[in-house]
Amino acid sequence: MRAPRHRKTLLSQPERIPIPVRSECPSCGPDGQLRTFVQRSNADWESCSCGLVFLKTHYTSPAAAPPPAQDGSAGVAAYQQRYGQYDSRQQRRVRKSAQQITDLLDFVERGPLLDIGSSMGYTLQAARDLGLPAAGLEMDGAVVERCRQAGFEARQGMMDRLPWPDAHFQLVIMKHVLEHTPDPRQALAEVRRVLRPGGGVFIAVPNLHYHRAMRDPQHHRFFSFSGDGHADGHYVYYTPDALARLLATMGFEVKRVHPQLLHRRATPVARAGQLAALPFRALWHAALTAFNLRKEFWLVAVRR
Ligand SMILES: [Zn+2]
Repeated sequence: MRAPRHRKTLLSQPERIPIPVRSECPSCGPDGQLRTFVQRSNADWESCSCGLVFLKTHYTSPAAAPPPAQDGSAGVAAYQQRYGQYDSRQQRRVRKSAQQITDLLDFVERGPLLDIGSSMGYTLQAARDLGLPAAGLEMDGAVVERCRQAGFEARQGMMDRLPWPDAHFQLVIMKHVLEHTPDPRQALAEVRRVLRPGGGVFIAVPNLHYHRAMRDPQHHRFFSFSGDGHADGHYVYYTPDALARLLATMGFEVKRVHPQLLHRRATPVARAGQLAALPFRALWHAALTAFNLRKEFWLVAVRR
C-alpha cells in the first residue's frame, strides 16, 4: 500500500493553533526518556530512548478548511485517487498480499483472517485465493460497501475497537495502519483480544531508519503531519527493535522481521525456486538493511 502523498501545509507562527496529541511515549508511558526530535511548522515530534518517534503536537489554523464530508462516492473516489484504479496494478498488490500472508503462515496455523485497513480488498482477495476465510475493517463506509459488493465480509470501524468477539481470528494483517493511531497499545490490545492463542499478526509500517527521513527530518514528508484533525496522518514512527519491544509488552513474540526468503509450506516447485534465489535475495536484503534503504519494514509476531 502506498503512503498518501504529503499535502504541503505551511503555517505562519501567529496563526498557529496547537492541538496537543501525546506527552508520553506511546510504548513506555511515563518511564520514557524523551527529547525533541524535530519541530516543523505544523508538527512537533518527540523521540524516546526506546527508539520511537511520536507526534507531540500538531498545529492548525483558523483559516484551515474542514475536511470534506465523506459521502459515498467521495470516499471511493478518494481511495481510487490514492491507491490507483481498482483494477490497475491490482494483480501485483494481490500477489504481494499473498506473499505476506504466507510469511505469517510459516509461524501460525491456517484459520480465519482479519485485514485491518482493508482498503479496496487486495488482501481479502489474496486470502480467498489461499482458501482462508477473511474479513476486513475500514473507516470509510463507501469503501466497505465496495468490498461487500465484491463478495467480501467487511465492516466499518476503527482499529481501537474491533467489532468482532474475542478469539475470533487466527491471522491479523495490519499494513500501514499502526502508524495512524496515537495509541498503538490500545490497537494492539484489540488485536490480541480478537486473536486466538497461537494466532499471529503481520505488521507493515514506515521505517523510521529510512535513510532519506533520517538525513533530513526537517524536510522529509514523514514528519509533516497531514492529518489536520481527521485520522489520515501518521502519529508514530517505529524502528524494528522499538516495535518488537512494544509488541513484547503487549503479549506478542516477534518471529520474523523483513520478508521470509524460504517458505516452509511452499509447494516443492516454489520452494526449489526460493532455494535457487536464496543467496541473491539474502545479499539484497542484507544491503537494504545495512544502508537503511527500506521505506517500510515487515514484521511477524505470534500471540503468546
Ligand atoms: Zn519509549
